[in-house]
Amino acid sequence: MYAVHRLRGMGLSLHAIEQGGDVGGTWYWNRYPGARCDVMSIDYSYSFSNEIMQEWTWSEVFATQPEILAYANWVADRLDLRRSYSFDTCATVIAYDDEREIWSVGTDTGTVYEVKYLVMATGPLSMPKALDTPGSERFGGLLLQAQTWPHEPVDFAGKRVGLIGTGSSGIQIAPVVAAQCGHLTVFQRTPSFTLPARNQPLDPEFIAQIKAHYPHLREMAKNTFTGGIRPVSTRPFFSIPAEERRKLMDQAWEEGALRFLGLFSDLLFDAEANECVAEYVRGKIAEIVEDPATAELLTPRGYPIFARRPCLDTNYYETFNRPNVALSDCIGDPIEEITPDGIRTRTRHIELDIIIAANGYDALTGAMLAINVTGRNGARLSEHWRNGPRSHLGLMMPGFPNLFMVAGANGPSALANFILLNEQNVDWIVRCIEHLRGRGLSAMEPTPESEDRWMAQVQALAEPSLYPRANTWYTGSNIEGKPRGIPLLSRRAPPLPGGMRSRDRGFPRLRVRELNPIAAACRFKHGACLV
Ligand code: NAP
Repeated sequence: MYAVHRLRGMGLSLHAIEQGGDVGGTWYWNRYPGARCDVMSIDYSYSFSNEIMQEWTWSEVFATQPEILAYANWVADRLDLRRSYSFDTCATVIAYDDEREIWSVGTDTGTVYEVKYLVMATGPLSMPKALDTPGSERFGGLLLQAQTWPHEPVDFAGKRVGLIGTGSSGIQIAPVVAAQCGHLTVFQRTPSFTLPARNQPLDPEFIAQIKAHYPHLREMAKNTFTGGIRPVSTRPFFSIPAEERRKLMDQAWEEGALRFLGLFSDLLFDAEANECVAEYVRGKIAEIVEDPATAELLTPRGYPIFARRPCLDTNYYETFNRPNVALSDCIGDPIEEITPDGIRTRTRHIELDIIIAANGYDALTGAMLAINVTGRNGARLSEHWRNGPRSHLGLMMPGFPNLFMVAGANGPSALANFILLNEQNVDWIVRCIEHLRGRGLSAMEPTPESEDRWMAQVQALAEPSLYPRANTWYTGSNIEGKPRGIPLLSRRAPPLPGGMRSRDRGFPRLRVRELNPIAAACRFKHGACLV
C-alpha cells in the first residue's frame, strides 16, 4: 500500500494486483479467533505521514486483527489507494523480455500487464503450508485453516474442536476457542516457548505523549535493529549476578513479553545464557499448569529459547487448566490421519466437529516461487534459489533487472517491525527508480559479486547465532525438501566495551542509559522504552 502511494506520487503509471479481495494482506486473511499482532500497535503502523499518525488512535498495546484491518482500510480510503488495485487477482507467470527491457506479468484472470519496474510485495508469511495429514478431504465436519479463515463468524458453541499446531497462530487460537467451544483438543508436535503479552488498553495520557513525539520516536525506531520503540538491552546475561538476573526476569515476566525479550543482549549467541532463561520459562510453565504430566508435555526442550520465533500469549498455559481442554502429544502419539469424523492418532481416535489447522507457512520463498518467474536470458528464479534464496540486501537479484522485493529473503524481513521495514524498503526502491529516470538509464540489477558479498554477510551473522539449532520456518525445516539455512539478516550481539566476553563474571553492570529524553518520558509505559 505504501509502495502504491509512493510510486503513484512519482507520476508513474502504476497498477497493483492483489490476491485478496481487498487490502490488508496478512490481516485480510488471518481472521482466526484471537488473531492479534505482537508488535506494539504504536509501532506496527505507518510512520511516513504525521497526519496519519495523528488521526488514527490505537485502542490496545497489541491490536487485534479487526482493528489492524480497519486501519488498513482507513489508510486505503484516506489515500484513495483502491483505484490502483485489481483485487482477487493472482500473478501466475512473470517473464523478462530482454530486448524490450520489459516485464510481463500474467495473471489468473487472463490479463497480462507489461511493466518497466516490478515490485514484489508478496510477503514472507503469505503462502500457507498445505496440511500434510492424509484424509482431510474425507472429514465430514468443518475443516478450517488459520491462514485462510472464513469471513463469516464460526459458531463453536458445544462443538468438539481439534487444533493442529502450536506456533504463534495456534497459541493465539487455543485460549479464545477453548472459552467458546464444548471441548478442545490441542494437537502439539513441538512445544513453543511463549511469554505473557500482558496486553492492555492504551491510556489517553500515553497516547497523547506518543502523538506529541511520534515523528521523533519513529526516527529513533528506524535506528534500532527491530525497528520498534521497545526495550533493547546492551546488558549481557552473565554481566550481572544470578540473584539480580532472577529479580529482573521476575519483574519482566510480570510486566510482559516485550520487556522480557529486551532484558539481555546475548541470548541468541550465548548458549549457556540462553539455557538459563529457557529454564526460567520452563519453571513458569510448571507453576501455571496444574497437571504435572500436561505441564511436562508443554515444556519445550532440546532447542534454544527464541531460536524459534518467540510467541506472545494471553492465558495460553492457563488454558490447559480448563476442564474442557486436552493436550494430545503428536510426538509420542503422532496423528496418522483425518477420518470422516475426527482425527486418528497412532493409539486412538478423537471425534471432532471442527478441525483447525494452524500449521504454518512456506515462509520467505513460498509466495515468490509459486509464480513462474523468469529473468534475463531465461534465468529461472527457481534455479537461482535452488539451494535457498539469494539476493542483494533482500531487495534485488542479479539476472532480474528492475525487479524489486519488499521485505525479501536475506533482509531482516519478519525479524523486524514489518511496517517500518516495508517503508524503508519502498523508500529505497523509489530512490533507485528516481536515480534511473534522472540519468536516463533503463535498468539496474546487482552484480553477482555484490550478491555473494551480501550472502556471506547474512551467513556470517547467522552462523554464530543459535537460530540454526531449532527446526522452524526461519530455517526452512518446516517444509519437507526445502533447502535449509537462515535466509534472514539476523543481529549480532552488541560489542562489549574493552573486548570483554559476556561470560566474564567480573564484568561491571552496564548502566541503564536513556538514549533520548523522549524515550525517557515514555519509559515503563506499556513496555515502550529503550533500555
Ligand atoms: P508456525 O510457527 O510455523 O507453527 C506451525 C505449527 O504447526 C507448529 O507447531 C508445527 O509443529 C505444527 N504442525 C505443522 N504440521 C503439523 C502436523 N502435521 N502435525 C502436527 N503439528 C503440525 O506457524 P504459525 O503459528 O502460523 O506462525 C508463523 C509465523 O507467522 C510466526 O512465527 C510469526 O512470525 C507469524 N505470526 C505472527 C503472529 C503475531 O504477530 N501475533 C500471529 C501468528 C503468526 P512443528 O513445529 O513440530 O513442525
